Amino acid sequence: MSQTSSSDLLVVGAGVIGLGVADVAAREGLRVTVLERERPASRASWAGAGMLNCRPWPRVKTPDYHDLVLASKKRFPEWAERLRDETDIDIGLLACGALELYPESRATPDGLANLERMIEGCHARGIRAERITPAEARELEPGLKTDGLALAVHLPDDGQIRTPRFGRALALSCRQRGVDLREGVEVADVWLEGDSVRGVTTRSGERIPSEAVVLCPGAWAAQFPTLNRLAPRTAKIHPVRGQIACYRAPRPLAQRLLTMEHHYIVPRPDGIVLVGSTMERVGFEAVTTPGPQDELRAFGASLLPATDALQPLTAWADLRPGLKGSHPILGPVPGAQGLFVAAGHFRNGLVLAPVTAEIVLALLLGRMPPVPVDPWMPKGFDATPSVDDDK
Ligand SMILES: Cc1cc2nc3c(=O)[nH]c(=O)nc-3n(C[C@H](O)[C@H](O)[C@H](O)COP(=O)(O)OP(=O)(O)OC[C@H]3O[C@@H](n4cnc5c(N)ncnc54)[C@H](O)[C@@H]3O)c2cc1C
Repeated sequence: MSQTSSSDLLVVGAGVIGLGVADVAAREGLRVTVLERERPASRASWAGAGMLNCRPWPRVKTPDYHDLVLASKKRFPEWAERLRDETDIDIGLLACGALELYPESRATPDGLANLERMIEGCHARGIRAERITPAEARELEPGLKTDGLALAVHLPDDGQIRTPRFGRALALSCRQRGVDLREGVEVADVWLEGDSVRGVTTRSGERIPSEAVVLCPGAWAAQFPTLNRLAPRTAKIHPVRGQIACYRAPRPLAQRLLTMEHHYIVPRPDGIVLVGSTMERVGFEAVTTPGPQDELRAFGASLLPATDALQPLTAWADLRPGLKGSHPILGPVPGAQGLFVAAGHFRNGLVLAPVTAEIVLALLLGRMPPVPVDPWMPKGFDATPSVDDDK
């Protein structure tokens, strides 16, 4: 890339997706600027529960999605070690395992067939998954209440990270590599001349030049007119609010992630317990509300009764970048040379951050991406049928 403009690469949005892209690009020697409206890793990339799991439920109609998640999950040991060595921040990577809990209410013939296919999908990908009885689940997790459970699946390969530390480590790593990480800058649109990107325009009317631009704006991806015109499916990315209730127990109440449909309990080794989460389509209001918080509390107590005696430490809510059908959207935007997008990671943006960064970097540099990217390319969206959700 030529040295005439102020940076080789401009990244919009400093969540884990944008920071991951900026970090790998800076490692390649590119001069990178990141523009963030708020503070780095302060939105979904702070709020996320930090589960690293791959559940190949058959209802996802793009099976490659699970391969993408798995490829990214496998990168975490290397990413965690590098971030610890370079920033002194331990992102808390833990191969804690998980129990997927299956209630009697879902144990219909169809439900059980789906579960079997999920287990087969795990085995086909080399993920350990074993169907066990509620009594066996309780042997693994003595604090677990098993009333109303039909069965469980033990997934020893699932893991977790401490989400805020991951974001902090990425931001620090970027800064140490010379990335110009600017906070409080709101980008209004992409600056195009003909069919080539020249940079971006900001809300305050500034033009910031760059050879290439990667848009990583999370739940706000539908607010970029040029992107939405050239890659119309990005206009469908919408906020899906997730709330979490957080407790602190004097000792760990469980070792494994406890997951059941959209809900979960994430026990940290220091006694912190996260109970999540909701899936609410309420626009851009990232606030907690009493009803859903009560439901989370009841859900937590229904599986780990010890949580009922705890005072909530805190609670929070933030916005997932939701997208029906095939997601995320990754790659070059058709009709705008030098413009890329990495958005729509929905419920799995934390686990998908490493592979997203490596894919975008490869495409940016004209290299072979580390995994097949056709299903995620902005221009490839028509080929995939629509589904409602991913896990
Ligand atoms: C409650 C909850 C639990 C979750 N749990 C998990 C989990 O266990 N595992 C997992 O893998 N994923 C989880 N997720 C999903 C994950 O957090 C997201 O998919 C991921 O953080 C998305 O990252 P992002 O960088 O795309 O978005 P964000 O973190 O939202 O970052 C986007 C950034 O872009 C900035 N921005 C937007 N517009 C502009 C603009 N015009 N100009 C400048 N900056 C702009 C925003 O301020 C923001 O900082 C969870 C999410 C939630 C809400």
